[in-house]
Amino acid sequence: MSNPYRQLPAVNQLLSQLPVEEYNHERVVELCRVVLEGARQRIAANGIVPPEQALVDEVKMRLALEHELSLRQVINATGVIIHTNLGRAPLSQAALRAMQAVAGDYSTLEYDLQAGQRGHRDSHIESIIVDVTEAEAALVVNNNAAAVYLALSALAKDREVVISRSELVEIGGGFRIPDVMQQSGTILREVGTTNRTRLDDYEQAINDQTAALMRVHASNFKLIGFTERVELPDMVSLAHQHNLPVLDDLGSGALLDTAPFGLEHEPTVQESIAAEVDLVMFSGDKLLGGPQAGIIVGKRSMVEQLRQFPLTRALRPDKLCLAALAATLRHYRDEDPLATVPVWQMISAALPDLERRAKNYQSALGGEVINGESMVGGGSLPGNALPSRVLALTVSNPDEVASRLRQQSPPVIARIQNDALIFDPRTILNDELFVQTTKQVIR
Ligand SMILES: *Cc1c(COP(=O)(O)O)cnc(C)c1O
Repeated sequence: MSNPYRQLPAVNQLLSQLPVEEYNHERVVELCRVVLEGARQRIAANGIVPPEQALVDEVKMRLALEHELSLRQVINATGVIIHTNLGRAPLSQAALRAMQAVAGDYSTLEYDLQAGQRGHRDSHIESIIVDVTEAEAALVVNNNAAAVYLALSALAKDREVVISRSELVEIGGGFRIPDVMQQSGTILREVGTTNRTRLDDYEQAINDQTAALMRVHASNFKLIGFTERVELPDMVSLAHQHNLPVLDDLGSGALLDTAPFGLEHEPTVQESIAAEVDLVMFSGDKLLGGPQAGIIVGKRSMVEQLRQFPLTRALRPDKLCLAALAATLRHYRDEDPLATVPVWQMISAALPDLERRAKNYQSALGGEVINGESMVGGGSLPGNALPSRVLALTVSNPDEVASRLRQQSPPVIARIQNDALIFDPRTILNDELFVQTTKQVIR
């Protein structure tokens, strides 16, 4: 029998079967050598010569892996709709097209076509935000944390902002309202107690150093039991009697009511505007379902004051954000957002549909279709779950299988519950891709 090592192909023979023109030539040669060395070690161990095709495939796989960007697509099977670690809101097709159109060419970002001269980047977005929220004016910044920081810095530096002790919250990722207030140079004037704050408490705190009353939506925890809080309209009328503005950090910025989907009511932007709040701040990539952004809406004079403030320039959104945000808002203004905005498609997904999809997964992957719970997430609606139908796969080592799923391309992120892997169809955006990818690991 001939020397088994001599049956291995030469580097050049592998190269002739590889898409060398797509990659750095030296790197391909290097990987061929690495793969051949691995083959030699296997021959030494068991005497078996791998087929040439297997070696070619291994080099291809290694090349593909090296070319994957670290920030890349994943399949979210967790059932958490606004998953901050997984990039929050996925965008609609229309938003993607809008981004692509301005990304790969020049655009009207700061150009007025009619006048043939410089225009304003805000002009593309303000009117549509105003249409959808019924506010007088709007401004977009990098994210909601920036919006809050900007509003406090521009309107309340070295002066007092009155806020309830129940609203001195931490949002996550280290965003703590008292710290942001301090950083902006605002003097925090806490009133009430952790569980109860009354209108009186605000009134007694107002003095000639007061710049504003602030409300922060408790977006990621619930206060239950012996509690009392001031309704927004009452807070606004008190503030306005004293010629003070109300700043409202709404967090999620829902434009639609969540109650029809069996969830608690999440305060909407329109409600704050109807209550005559002076400035409302919310995220673009939570319940709005758009790109990362901080949206500030409210009274024109105050929005203009923020627009003129020097810090605003450092917080401004880029053209991709503005394009995606305008396209997302258009779904609310001109279409049915439940059918077009992915976050709302997921929230409104019908149980029989989820059941049908989970059954499809089952026929390809095995396991059992059981009742499960999806979450809205993203610091919205704490403790609120949406009933779902999910695929449960019982395997002997769920952690190991979950880890292998994370190494697929695209990676699949699943939940483990009672030693079973849980796949929730609600947040899986492409069933075919999910089944294909998961099949590589399961069976
Ligand atoms: C999420 C949230 C923020 C931070 O918003 P980002 O867009 O993540 O910066 C601030 N305040 C509240 C109440 C929130 O829920």
